[in-house]
Amino acid sequence: MAKIICGLGSSHGPLLAIPPEEWHLRADNDRRLNLEAELRRAIPAGEIEPWFQPVVDSRDGRIVGVEVLARWRHPTQGLLAPAAFVPIAEELGLIGRIDEAVFEAGCHLAADWVARGLIERISFNVSPRDLLDPGFSRRLIGRLAKTDLPATALVVEITETFLLENLALSRRHIERLNAKGVAIALDDFGTGYSNLRALMHLPIQTVKLDRSLICDVASDPKVAKLVTSVLHAARALGIRIVAEGVEEESQAIFLRGSGCERMQGYWFARPMPADQMHTALRESQAAIPRVLTPEPQRRRSAA
Ligand code: C2E
Ligand code: CA
Ligand code: CA
Repeated sequence: MAKIICGLGSSHGPLLAIPPEEWHLRADNDRRLNLEAELRRAIPAGEIEPWFQPVVDSRDGRIVGVEVLARWRHPTQGLLAPAAFVPIAEELGLIGRIDEAVFEAGCHLAADWVARGLIERISFNVSPRDLLDPGFSRRLIGRLAKTDLPATALVVEITETFLLENLALSRRHIERLNAKGVAIALDDFGTGYSNLRALMHLPIQTVKLDRSLICDVASDPKVAKLVTSVLHAARALGIRIVAEGVEEESQAIFLRGSGCERMQGYWFARPMPADQMHTALRESQAAIPRVLTPEPQRRRSAA
């Protein structure tokens, strides 16, 4: 019965054939089909573009790296953030093609920035499921070889979602990338139920402290203590910490005082398109401290 209704409720079927209580299902289904068709068209059309958010050196606010974040320049809906398309792309198995497009365009731009000494590193996000794909690291290394970006300038950001599901395979991917000089950053640290023992034994170079921890760091003594001890442990293990989601000066001051070397967040700069990033990099190199002292309007304007 469900199958028949489903069939009648396909995007071309008459609405009257579906019981009213299931109309919303058809609407959801239609929206999904639409989005799927649009995404399949958008990727080869070059509508998915890389945006860049600076990662700064805590000591002086200079930009030392960038994280690449996908945006969809939709022809009628304007600029879409990943929340509007990454989850469905994951479900539809299209995320690999999105990541590929973002990687290719991002590397092309960043290779020049690295060559000019404007940044040291560029970070890309990959789908958490990639770690379960035996071909993931080889494919990435192959794609990197086609760019002008030195492997030592690349950081691959992974989350712990599937990291521990197949620890042996995750380790193989990480070691293979490390062997080429590519660094691994563990993203969103503090949001999951990290098996710290297992994570500690993986050759990860950077840990990104999640925004949910950073937002209370200057106001909640317990969070402050937790972050301080994570920073302490990371230093002892030779792991670099990047604090994400730094939105307020008090957070930046606390983190700098606690020895956190790298920060990223709206307090410094929001994600921005390539041309703006290029200007910000040149200003940062000329030591114009625009990124450390953003105007309130610029920080509030949505990206
Ligand atoms: P993420 O990797 O944790 O990226 C950081 C997110 O936090 C970005 O959201 C960034 O714009 C936002 N952010 C940065 N600083 C601040 C801050 O100070 N305050 C607040 N409230 N937010 C801040 P965005 O760009 O919307 O990306 C969301 C997520 O989508 C990313 O989280 C990442 O998981 C995923 N994503 C983005 N680009 C890609 C991509 O190219 N491939 C894949 N597979 N996933 C991507
Ligand atoms: Ca990330
Ligand atoms: Ca993150």
